[in-house]
Amino acid sequence: MQYFKHKNILITGATSGIGKELAIQLAKQQATLILVGRNNAQLLEVKKTCEQSGAKVLVYQADLIKMNEVELLVAKVTEAVNKIDVLINNAGISQRSQAEETSELVDRQIMELNFFSPVKLTKSLWPLLLASPQANIVNISSVTGTFGFPQRSAYAASKHALVGFFESWMLENKHPQINFTTVSPGRILTNISYNALKSDGSKHELLDEGQAKGIRADVCANRIIRAVAQGKQQVYIVKQERILLFLYRFFPSIFVYLVKKLDLK
Ligand code: NAD
Repeated sequence: MQYFKHKNILITGATSGIGKELAIQLAKQQATLILVGRNNAQLLEVKKTCEQSGAKVLVYQADLIKMNEVELLVAKVTEAVNKIDVLINNAGISQRSQAEETSELVDRQIMELNFFSPVKLTKSLWPLLLASPQANIVNISSVTGTFGFPQRSAYAASKHALVGFFESWMLENKHPQINFTTVSPGRILTNISYNALKSDGSKHELLDEGQAKGIRADVCANRIIRAVAQGKQQVYIVKQERILLFLYRFFPSIFVYLVKKLDLK
C-alpha cells in the first residue's frame, strides 16, 4: 500500500492496544509517525519497533485529559512539522460502573478524554491539516457510539458525542481535500477493560471475558488502515456486535430485551 508513504501521521494513545498496532503497521509503509502517549518508556519502546521498519518517528508525552497538555503538544508538533496528513484520535478510556453510582468526576473525566480532547486537538491542528494536499481525520469511536450499553453510560455518551460532532463537521466541511473517518469497533482484545474506570474513578483492572474473546488489535488496526486509505466515512469492526447493531436499528424492543438479559463479563 502506497497511500501512507511519507505521510505525517499523528496517533494518540500509541503506547498500547489499537494505537500501538496502528503505529507498528503504518511504520512498515514508511510513514513519518508522530506518536503521543502518557508513558515515555512505552513510547520509546514503540518508537524503536517502528524505526526498525524504516519509519521516521517523533514521540511526545502528553496526558490528553489535561487541556493545557493538549495545547503544549500542539505547540511542539507545530514546531516540528509543517503539515499533518493523517490525524488518528485514538486515545480513550472506558467504564465499568452503573450510572447511578458513578461520580460526576468520573463522568467528566471520560468526556474530557474521549470527547473534548479529540475536538480540541483537531481544531488546534486544523491549520496543519489544511496544509496537507490530502488529509484524513480518523476518530476511534465504538459501537457504543451507536447504541447505549449497561455499565458504559459516560463512555457511550462520550462516543455518541464524538460521532455527532465529527459527523456534523464532515457535513459542513468545505475542504474537499479533508476526509473524515469514524471507526466503530466492537470488542477488541486490548487493555481497555483493564484501564476502564469504576464508579469511584479506580481502575477495573480485569481483562473481561468478552474482551478476551474480542478481535485481535492487529486485525482491527489493519481494517482501520484499509478503511482510511479507501476514504471510507464509517467503518464498523465487529463480530457478534453486528447482530446488536441490526436489532438496534430494525427491532429496537428485541435489542432492549436481549441486552438487559446479557451476562456482562
Ligand atoms: P488501550 O487501553 O489498550 O489503549 C488506550 C490508549 O489511550 C493507551 O495508549 C493509553 O495510554 C491512552 N490513554 C488513556 N488515557 C490517556 C490520557 N489521559 N492521555 C493520553 N493518552 C491516554 O485500549 P484500546 O482498546 O487500544 O483503545 C483505543 C481506542 O479504541 C479508545 O478510544 C477506545 O475507546 C476505542 N475502542 C476500543 C474497544 C475495545 O474493545 N478495545 C472497542 C471500541 C472502541
